[in-house]
Amino acid sequence: FPVKSASGVKITLEDGTELIDGMSSWWSVIHGYSNPKIVNAMKDQLDKMSHVMFGGLTHSPAVTLAEKLIDITPKELEKVFFSDSGSVAVEVALKMAIQYWFSKGKKEKSTFMTIRNGYHGDTFNAMSVCDPVTGMHDIFSEILPINHFAPQPRCAFGDTNINEDVAAFEQILKANHKNIAGIILEPVVQGAGGMWFYSQYYLEAIAKLAKQYDVLLILDEIATGFGRTGKMFAMEHANIVPDILCLGKALTGGNITFAATLATKEIAETISANNNVFMHGPTFMGNPLACSAAIASLELLEERDWKAEVATIEKMLKDGFEMCKTFKNVEDVRVLGAIGVIEMKESVNVGNIQEEFVKRGIWVRPFGKMVYIMPPYVICAKDLSFLIEKVVEVVENI
Ligand code: PMP
Repeated sequence: FPVKSASGVKITLEDGTELIDGMSSWWSVIHGYSNPKIVNAMKDQLDKMSHVMFGGLTHSPAVTLAEKLIDITPKELEKVFFSDSGSVAVEVALKMAIQYWFSKGKKEKSTFMTIRNGYHGDTFNAMSVCDPVTGMHDIFSEILPINHFAPQPRCAFGDTNINEDVAAFEQILKANHKNIAGIILEPVVQGAGGMWFYSQYYLEAIAKLAKQYDVLLILDEIATGFGRTGKMFAMEHANIVPDILCLGKALTGGNITFAATLATKEIAETISANNNVFMHGPTFMGNPLACSAAIASLELLEERDWKAEVATIEKMLKDGFEMCKTFKNVEDVRVLGAIGVIEMKESVNVGNIQEEFVKRGIWVRPFGKMVYIMPPYVICAKDLSFLIEKVVEVVENI
């Protein structure tokens, strides 16, 4: 479907068809398309400089953005590393963890632990911590580094009955922690590996285990960050603080690729002791144009009542999707924040179902058994009702 333009929550195709966007372009376009404040900030920045190398040089967009990120994340996270995309932010996090233990003389701590059905990106080490089956990278499995996988926690968001899931995790951690550099998790919401919302109490317990077994905790908030689950960051549901945090996607309001990896002072200073540096230096690190978009996006979050917007979307998704639970072809329906998931009993034919959505004037892109929407926070009640009604209609009839 060739696109001519996109504005607010509408995507206009070359043939003039208008689609209400249910995807926020894969979690990122939280303020809608072509938001004037972000567009103007980027235009202003273009007039000054679109790029300058970030080795030996710095600039105010990068400094301002780093300060803003430090302000809105837990106080323990004081250091920021900018890179080009979510997958790179994950690579950076994994490398930071390895270099941290290396600097402490513990070279053997060089593997990672995670849970099944996770997703952390498309580059090699990111692929190695994605679910080996649902993570979409199984054809590369023979050549990926071997990491440790605990079963997917079956305790759903809100469940307090977590003991069995935590015990299964601990068993693997206990046996392997001497060789484990860090645990990497998507907090609460597993995205592209299965659209599953697991218990915040489980997450809290895993954070405690990380401390107990002396491994770092890396949280990947690339999909969940900036309000999507109803909290600014999903880790806030569990009141935990990671050692390393990955951000991306909605960081720039989905306007341009960019990502950040935050770390504690302890990690940064251990790596940088004795005049060492962290061994990663991408060409477009700290790109000022991307920083300007990210600053404007964060300012919009400060100005808007995004919590109320997300709460309204959550309520409408819950009410609107409820009836799908009675459909014969639906396995489960779940909603958290501005994420609504209809899990089908069978995998859908993406090509066919997408035709049906476009025919009805909405943009939704399912994968596997998951038909899900996560609209921009700025969507109005009328557009959201339309979107929900059409999704339900298509789901009922496939
Ligand atoms: N981590 C998570 C949780 C993601 O959902 C994604 C992208 N789907 C990534 C990392 C990778 O980000 P990017 O596509 O920007 O490389």
